Amino acid sequence: MSKPKLAYYLAGGCAGCDISLVDLADFLVDVVSAVEIVFFAPTLVDVKYKDFEALPDGSVDVGLLTGNIRNKEHEHMAKVMRAKCKVLIAYGICASLGGIKGLVNLHSNQELLEKAYRDTFSTDNPTGELPSPKCVVDGRYELELPELTEARTLDQVVEVDYYIGGCPPHYEHVKAALVALLEGKLPPRGSWITMGHAVCEVCARNPVLRGEKKKPVVEVRRVIEGGVEEEACLTKNKILKIFIMPLKYFIKRHNLYSTPQRRVSAAL
Ligand code: SF4
Repeated sequence: MSKPKLAYYLAGGCAGCDISLVDLADFLVDVVSAVEIVFFAPTLVDVKYKDFEALPDGSVDVGLLTGNIRNKEHEHMAKVMRAKCKVLIAYGICASLGGIKGLVNLHSNQELLEKAYRDTFSTDNPTGELPSPKCVVDGRYELELPELTEARTLDQVVEVDYYIGGCPPHYEHVKAALVALLEGKLPPRGSWITMGHAVCEVCARNPVLRGEKKKPVVEVRRVIEGGVEEEACLTKNKILKIFIMPLKYFIKRHNLYSTPQRRVSAAL
C-alpha cells in the first residue's frame, strides 16, 4: 500500500514549529517511515518550488503550513499548498491566528524596515539602503525579493481544513494530529486538533489546580525585567505573553489583519 504523501511549508514563521516536530523524538521515526515527504521547504527537503507546483492537484494527502502569510511568495505557496493537498492544516498559532508575528500589523512596513535596517545600534548601513523587491547587488547581480504584504492568517488566504495551536505547538498536539491522520480518524473539518487539554488544564503552575484562587492580571511585564517567581503561574508573574494572547484574539475577532495598519494602532 502506498504511504500517505506529506507536504510542509514554512511561511512567515520562526521555524519554532519545525522544532516541535523534532520534539516528537522516537515517534518521529515512526512518522517518517509511515509517510512519504514530497515537499518540506525550506528546512528539510530540497524540492524546488517548480517541481512541487508540477504535481497534480489533490495528489498530496496532507499539508502543514506554519507561520503567517507575510509576503507575495508566501501567498503564492499557500495557494499551491491548497491546490496540491487534500487536507491543509494551519500549523501553529502564527498560521492559525496571527501569533506574535501578527504584531507586525501594528506598524507600517516602512516603519519596520527602517527599524530593522537603519535605526538599531548594531546596524552597519552607511547609505541607509532598504531592501526593495528588485535590486542589483555589486553592480551586476539582479536580485528579486518577494514583496511584503500585511501579515495574514492562512485562512485569510485559502480555505483551511484543520488548525493546530500553540507557539510552537506542543508535541502532543502534533502527535494527536499525525495519529488521527495516519489512522484516518480526523475530526470534523474546521476543528482544532489538540492533545485533548488546554495547557492551563494540565499545568502544574495553575493556582486553581493547587486549590488557590486565580487573580486577574492588572499589569504586564517581560521576563527580562526580572522578579519572576519560580514555579508560579505566568499570569501571577505578569509575563508579557499573557498580554499577547488576548491581543491576538482581539485582532482576529475584529478582523484587523485586513484593515489599514493605522486603524489597528488606533483601535488598540
Ligand atoms: S507559532 Fe510560534 S514557534 Fe511557530 S512559527 Fe509562529 S512564532 Fe514561531
